[in-house]
Amino acid sequence: MIKKVDHIGIAVNSLENALPFYTDVLKLPLLKIEIVESQKVKVAFLQAGETKLELLEPTSEDSTIAKFIEKRGEGIHHVALGVASIEERIIELKEKGIRMIDDAPRLGAGGAHIAFMHPKSSSGVLYELCEKKGLKG
Ligand code: ZN
Repeated sequence: MIKKVDHIGIAVNSLENALPFYTDVLKLPLLKIEIVESQKVKVAFLQAGETKLELLEPTSEDSTIAKFIEKRGEGIHHVALGVASIEERIIELKEKGIRMIDDAPRLGAGGAHIAFMHPKSSSGVLYELCEKKGLKG
């Protein structure tokens, strides 16, 4: 049911401060920067071979990313699993007793359809299901 690790989400205080490490030191190509209003984050995607890194900067104090950084500091926030037919995957997971944060997919960065699983169901890891409907990459 899982195609690949689509990306790893990393919470940062500031894209401006965090990006040079990725672009200048690791030399990863910066794919794009966009603001996702619904999640109150500014997002930068970097290509890291087969997968991507998603840096998430909060744009508001009540952003879930701002709260995450306040509690745990900057660092890995979630792992995104690339899937097909995300609605069916959600139903399957729920049938297996997995708690979902999102019972239905919503729009994430780059127009992807995403849904988060509750980390209580996955040993503390926040997993995102991610489907690129009609989008490349
Ligand atoms: Zn993500």
